[in-house]
Amino acid sequence: MPESDKVIELAKRRGIFWPSYEIYGGVAGLYDVGPVGTKIKNKIVALWRKIFVEQNSEFVVEIETPLITPSKVLEASGHVENFTDPIVECTKCHKIYRADHLVEDMLKVNVEGLRPSELTALISEKGLKCPACGGDFGEVRSFNLLFATNIGPYTGSTGYLRPETAQGMFTAFKRVYETSRQKLPLGIAQVGRVGRNEISPRQGLVRMREFTIMEVEFFIDPEDKEVPWLTRYLEDSFPVLFKEAKERGENPSVVKVKEMVEERLVVNPWMAFWMASASRFVQSIGINRDNFYFEEKLPHERAHYSSQTFDQIVQVMGEKVEISGHAYRGDYDLSRHSRYSNEDLTVFKKYDKPRTIKRKTIVIKRDRFKDNPDVQKEVMSIIANKSPEAIEKMLGTTEIGGKKLSEYIEVMEREEKEHGIKIYPHVVEPSFGVERCLYLSLLSAYREKKDRVVLALPKELAPYQVAVFPLLDKEEMRNKALEIYNLLKGSFEVLFDDSGSIGKRYARVDEIGVPYAITVDPQTFDDGTVTVRDRDTWNQVRVKIDDLMVMMNKLFSGQDFTMISGEAKK
Ligand code: AMP
Repeated sequence: MPESDKVIELAKRRGIFWPSYEIYGGVAGLYDVGPVGTKIKNKIVALWRKIFVEQNSEFVVEIETPLITPSKVLEASGHVENFTDPIVECTKCHKIYRADHLVEDMLKVNVEGLRPSELTALISEKGLKCPACGGDFGEVRSFNLLFATNIGPYTGSTGYLRPETAQGMFTAFKRVYETSRQKLPLGIAQVGRVGRNEISPRQGLVRMREFTIMEVEFFIDPEDKEVPWLTRYLEDSFPVLFKEAKERGENPSVVKVKEMVEERLVVNPWMAFWMASASRFVQSIGINRDNFYFEEKLPHERAHYSSQTFDQIVQVMGEKVEISGHAYRGDYDLSRHSRYSNEDLTVFKKYDKPRTIKRKTIVIKRDRFKDNPDVQKEVMSIIANKSPEAIEKMLGTTEIGGKKLSEYIEVMEREEKEHGIKIYPHVVEPSFGVERCLYLSLLSAYREKKDRVVLALPKELAPYQVAVFPLLDKEEMRNKALEIYNLLKGSFEVLFDDSGSIGKRYARVDEIGVPYAITVDPQTFDDGTVTVRDRDTWNQVRVKIDDLMVMMNKLFSGQDFTMISGEAKK
């Protein structure tokens, strides 16, 4: 069994996640997140919010938009036409496969970006057969991943479940811009559910049909390359596989943010800003820097509107999974939505000082047309839809009824003051799937110790910070433990458990990643002390109940258990 199956097993056993609608046999790609999983997931979202939104509160705001999206919006975004994956059906057993994955698995080659016709050709050239029955494959077709629905009782008002939160931010951009800072850069963040009708969902939380996305659509002036906020990250470094190195078949190499910007390895410094944020975030959920890298997409692998895209890939426990995507989307989204909605989604970019510009204008010598409407008609049709510059070139050459165009038209130059221009902001988008974060942090935290499982989650992600147990099933011990539970409850997330043997209770809290466990035992009644046990080392130390609060505060402000337990023994 793959190593990662152990985590899936653990997740079911301990209420982290499990297949939805289990009692009806389950539906592939749909998962419930259980009581323990919800706590961890909420903490992942909180950490993301801290790094991506709160630390940038001067220019990032968060919104919430609907899951149900009218067709028009997703036609404008290109999803109705292009949000597809290739599928291929076995002509014998009629099993349907995701064609690119099938070819990649069978031939061990990367076929990202190949068209259905190219995949069909490759399948037939290599003679690939159905792995289930050995039958021949038909043609590769495109399958649209949008879940369709009907909005209201009328047919014809098609809607879809959004496949990403991004379109909500684009369609609300103008409103958010006007009600917030009215300045670029402006980030609009959102955390929300999305639906994608994936062809072959996998076990676990990697390819789901409904999941939660955390995205920032970051609107910038593409001309403005000054990013003072980047100083925060300039010295950060992380592994990146740039497209040139990728084409040469090399491995990722560690690069500093400063270098990425100075050497223009990113199309805009903001790309580096959000990749650095992603690097810190991923480490904060317990995925260490040796286990992830950013991989730049080759031109044929990325969406046509993106001039640069990086995927952040995590490799852990035999899994290789994209945890986030970072795309430079240019003005694609706002200009398309402008066109489809007939709304002006540009912003006015004011110049520091008004600029004087020379503008050519056309002057029509109307008196020359007196009693001559036919000539007027002809002149007007000649100049229609032409720029003053183009007309100027025609003045001495084009003739109407034996006379030069200049007889009827003059082109003059005027000076005008321009205070700014209208621009479509460009967009940089960092996008994370929450369940993948949850799954990959569980894989990273999974340890086996003497046939027992320990989930060594970062303290910030632990579902509970501390557990409190009575050693034995005795009323006075139970009451004392409840007293301690109530004492700590106001300041910490505490789990009280008095069921089963103490060994089972320690095993349970280890398996859900609770960092510390406090146990009341007979000695508590002699000297007012309890034991505090550390999840990762299983070391225990006796601490006075009166000192527990101080000790816990120290442990959660970054101090080490070994050091603190040394102090406690003194
Ligand atoms: P994308 O818009 O495809 O780049 O997806 C954004 C992020 O959502 C990815 O980086 C993943 O973390 C996550 N994601 C994408 N597809 C799925 C899926 N089917 N199930 C779970 N997470 C997903």
